Amino acid sequence: MKAILFDHHGGPEVLRYTDVPELEPRSGEVITHVHACGLNHLDLWVRGGLPGVPIPLPHIPGSDVAGVIEKVGPNVTTVKRGQKVLLAPGVTCGKCPACLAGRDNHCPQFTNLGYMVDGGCAQYVRCPEVNCFPYPETLSFEEAAAVPLVFQTAWHMLLTRAQLQPAETVLILGAGSGVGSAAVQIAKFFGCRVIATAGNDAKLAKAKELGADDLVNHHAQKIKDEVRRLTAKRGVDVVFEHVGSSTWDDSVASLTRGGRLVTCGATTGFDAKIDLRFLFSRQLSILGSYMGNKSEFATVLKLVAAGKLKPVLDRTFPLAECRLAHEYLESGSQFGKVVLQIPL
Ligand SMILES: [Zn+2]
Repeated sequence: MKAILFDHHGGPEVLRYTDVPELEPRSGEVITHVHACGLNHLDLWVRGGLPGVPIPLPHIPGSDVAGVIEKVGPNVTTVKRGQKVLLAPGVTCGKCPACLAGRDNHCPQFTNLGYMVDGGCAQYVRCPEVNCFPYPETLSFEEAAAVPLVFQTAWHMLLTRAQLQPAETVLILGAGSGVGSAAVQIAKFFGCRVIATAGNDAKLAKAKELGADDLVNHHAQKIKDEVRRLTAKRGVDVVFEHVGSSTWDDSVASLTRGGRLVTCGATTGFDAKIDLRFLFSRQLSILGSYMGNKSEFATVLKLVAAGKLKPVLDRTFPLAECRLAHEYLESGSQFGKVVLQIPL
């Protein structure tokens, strides 16, 4: 089968479009014929290499898979060959206390397709049967592949971690990113007021189309000053962070008393400081968030199938042009998701 493979870490040039051996399912596993695979910022980290994360090499990246089940392994009972599926990205042990409690993103063995196991930038991918979810029939394969990781992550951040309440005010950083464009929609679904930031006016206009109430150009304007102006000095209830060093101080300063900052990433750097006097006297909460669990994924998919949440597809590339797709994603010029189309 054809796949995107890299055998050492580096820039986009390490990605090779090549032939790899066919896959066979083990007990409780399925092989999915991939029709589309969404890219995430995670793919760039995995390709570049992360300190202390021994990605098995050679490696096939790709976490967000839409396709059709091709083969089922022994003891598979809930899905069958020929069924259209959207795969949950998280692969877990299924047996530990966290998995049994439904908090599978707390599993010590948690990984994503395309992270510690081979992923979906290929004609076929292998995964556990429990990762197969009902296909949202109103969507094309490319649209469906734009859903999993970012919507699941944004849901876990806003609902489970930050305990978002209806009609609260939410500051969403980087609304043009996959996770940001998902967060805008989720916050609007709960009737919240959304202040969205992006780096240019074209992206801000698209954030507005997604429902954002107020817009901040984070290159031309100072985020905390704009938030202060827009909220009559009050600040926001929730800050949705994934940018890191470059926005951290403004994010913390934008919170109202009792506000919650939730973060799932740090694309501009990991170093951040916080004034502890500010943290305790204003009773702020700083919340870390990582991926999401399968129950949240199921909820998100119901809302996607009902048209309440919509994938934001920026651009597609053929699988063979994965390198160009990585370069495009790295440039930060997209609004929403970049998806690979797989030759059938
Ligand atoms: Zn587990």
